Formats: sequence, C-alpha cells, structure tokens
Amino acid sequence: MIHDWKMELYWRLPAAVQEFALSLYAGHLERLYYGPGYQAWTEQFRILQTRTAPEIAEWQQQRLRRIVKIAATRVPYYRENWQGMDSTFSALPRVEKQSLRRSEKKFLAEGVCSKALWTEKTSGTSGTALRIYWPKSMLPQWWALVEVAIRNVAGVAQDMPRAMFGGRTVVHGSQTTPPYWRFNRRWRQLYMSSYHISKATVADYVKALRHYGSEWITGYGSVIAALAQSAIEVGLSPLKMRAVIVSGDTLLPGMRRSIEKFFECKCYDSYGQCEAVCMAMECPQGRLHTVPGAGIWEILREDGSPCRPGEVGEIVATGLLNDALPLIRYRVGDYAAWAEQQDCPCGNHSPIVTDLEGRMDDYLLTPDGRKIGRLAAFKRSPSIHSAQVVQDRPGHAFLLLRPGQNYRRRDADAVCADISERIGEYEIEVVEVPEIPKTAAGKNRLVVRLAEHPELRPTYERLIKSLASVVERAA
Ligand SMILES: [Zn+2]
Repeated sequence: MIHDWKMELYWRLPAAVQEFALSLYAGHLERLYYGPGYQAWTEQFRILQTRTAPEIAEWQQQRLRRIVKIAATRVPYYRENWQGMDSTFSALPRVEKQSLRRSEKKFLAEGVCSKALWTEKTSGTSGTALRIYWPKSMLPQWWALVEVAIRNVAGVAQDMPRAMFGGRTVVHGSQTTPPYWRFNRRWRQLYMSSYHISKATVADYVKALRHYGSEWITGYGSVIAALAQSAIEVGLSPLKMRAVIVSGDTLLPGMRRSIEKFFECKCYDSYGQCEAVCMAMECPQGRLHTVPGAGIWEILREDGSPCRPGEVGEIVATGLLNDALPLIRYRVGDYAAWAEQQDCPCGNHSPIVTDLEGRMDDYLLTPDGRKIGRLAAFKRSPSIHSAQVVQDRPGHAFLLLRPGQNYRRRDADAVCADISERIGEYEIEVVEVPEIPKTAAGKNRLVVRLAEHPELRPTYERLIKSLASVVERAA
C-alpha cells in the first residue's frame, strides 16, 4: 500500500508516531470509504440480502446491461475484441489475466479522469503483478458491501474494535521484541504483524488482543490459525471473540478447528480479489454464498461450457461495481463448484459454491520455525512476469523469476529486499527462468517447499542447475 519512500520514513519513526500516522491515514481513507453514497448503498445491499433468487438475478441483469453498454461503447479493449461478435453474454470471449496485465489502460473507459481513480495492486496467486483501477466513487459501494454482506453476516461491524492480520509489514522483520503490532486508534483497529508469530511470541500477541479489547479478527486464515495453534500448544487460556473472518488463502479444516477452539467463536471463510469481480461469504450455517452485489459468477469447463452442480471448474466472473475498468467474463484463476444443495436455512437465497480452491497456503519456513506467508513482494515490480519462491532447506530459497517487459536486475533485488524485510535473516538466490514450473494440476504456485514435495526436487534441481551460469547471490 505505502510507497517505498513512505515506508522508509515510517521505519524511522518511533512506534507512537507510527501509530499517529496510521490514525491520520485512516482518517483519509474514511473520507473515501464512507463518503457520499455509503448510506444509500448500505440500504440497497441490505435489501438485496433478503431477496428471492429471481429478484436477485433481475437486479444483476440490470446492472450487467449497464456495464456491458459502457464496455461496448467506451472501452477500447472490448470495442476491438467484440467486433462482429454475437452479443449474447455467454458467447462473449473470456478475458485473460495476461491481457489485463499487458494493457490495463486499454480496459479503462474513455472519459474517466485519472484523478478520479484509485489504484489496487495484487501479486496474484501466480506471482504475476497486476494493477487495477477503481473509480473512487466505487469505494463507498465496496465498503457498504463489505459491511452488509461480510461483517454483518458474521455478526460484527466496522465500529467494533478489531484486530487485523494482513500483508502489510507494520513491524520490521528483524524486530525480536514486542510490540509486534500497531494500534490505529481512529478505527480501534489493532494491526498485527503476520510475520512474527511463533510459540515464543504468541503470549505477547494474545496479551495485546486482550489489552486493546479486540472483539473480532480478520485477515489471512493461515496466519490467524498459526497464532491459535501456537497459543493452544503453549497452553494459553482461550480468548473469546465474536467472530473471526478469514480470506486470502485456503482455509483447511485443521486451521478452522484451531481458530474456533482458541477464539471460542465461529470462523467465517470469505472470498474475493482486488479485481473485485466476485465475492463469497460463509453464512452461519457454514455454506459459502456468492455475494450478488459484487458480480456475476460462472463456473466453466476448459471448453467454456458451464459445469453442472458439483463439478469443479474455473471461476469466470463479471464485476458489477467497477464502471471505470469493466471486467466482463474475467478468468479469475481460481476454481469452484456450484453446490448440489442450493437451499440454505439461513435465509440468504444467493447461489452457494463449494470446493473453492486455488488460494494455496504459500509460506516460507524460517530456521526458528516461523511461517512467513503472503510474500506479496512481486507487486512492486510490474516488469516481473511471474515468480516463484522455492525453499530447498530452512533459511535458504531460490527466487525463480520470469522476466517481463522492461525487466532489470534491480527489480529482482527489490523483491529480495521486500522478502528480507518480512523475514529477517534469510538467504535468497535469484534464478531467471524462461517459464515457472506448474503443479500437476496446471496451476502456478507462489511458494514450493521441497521438503514437503520430494517428488518435485529433481525437476527443480535440473532447472536450477541448467541455469547455474546466471545464478547470482542476492541475500
Ligand atoms: Zn446460508
């Protein structure tokens, strides 16, 4: 989020001043997030949550017609690619992530002023950098949707004190004493480091959660589960929360069990992405409902035909919120199936999905046993086509990197510096490769830990050896 020079400045400040800066920044965000339109959108989405399936579909079709019209008339990418096409929605070509990455600007609607845009960046599960523009007018819609369709479903709200485990480095990776968090007083939000959790530090984390009165927790499931698991292992007494809402990586059953046991509340899984084309939220009955206000879901086979209920296929989604950068039939890169049983006693009639996958828990293991995940370092470098971290032994990894346009060596160094900032002492060797190896399922993985995948070792060893001449040390 924060640019390098801002981060440089941030590290130089004492913790109390850093917290003051966070509160100031929150004030700035608040004007954007909860500004004009927020209340009206909250009402509209609240009503949508109670609608029947046909009413929801009708609401979506109206929004869809509007977005498609903007795309067809004002967006260069669609004007070119839809020329002479059958205008039936299901016949429109799917949009590849690579097309978006190569030319984001061609997806921007003509006549939109760049000052009216908000930039979202992602690393993507494949490590491919992506820049998405949201119109600033979309922010109140987005946050109204998050409040109604995510937080309120879990029985919590934005104005309740909360703790957050995200991808930002709020505390430097080399720090070995508490506090491993910063408190944003304005939102009563305890922003905790995702990179310092271990059995040695867990008691400090739990003490801080108590001290700041956090009532719910949100963030990466793998991180919150690691905290809960460590707390259980060292014998801390449970800490009751109203809810834990996780997103961003695959929530495995064991992770959920640890979270629910230690925090004595339900753990809700949720799904979304910074392209904001589709969203899903687990209901109190444990089913994952699609969120109709965000976008239209399709689950498709490789040939583009729709999957039948229970059949896993790729998620193709059309965002209904972003009219400055419309994404229509966008291949998100994740997989899911429609639930065979679509009735849910919770009262929400939005379609239910199951078997959501693609968001793997990619993390590096440090010699002292910490799991460092969400290595979002590739975001900074649009010149890196894709990348993968391959851990061959504790404390050492290869960064396989496929150069993109305008790539320069210092782009790789920036990635290494970012990883070191999270981890502390760690040795990383950069290897430039023509192609990142994929898993048997054909998917890219951000992190591969060879100790857990001995079958992959020969492939990687061959690859790294064949490129040994270009291997350079970059720790
Ligand atoms: Zn439900």
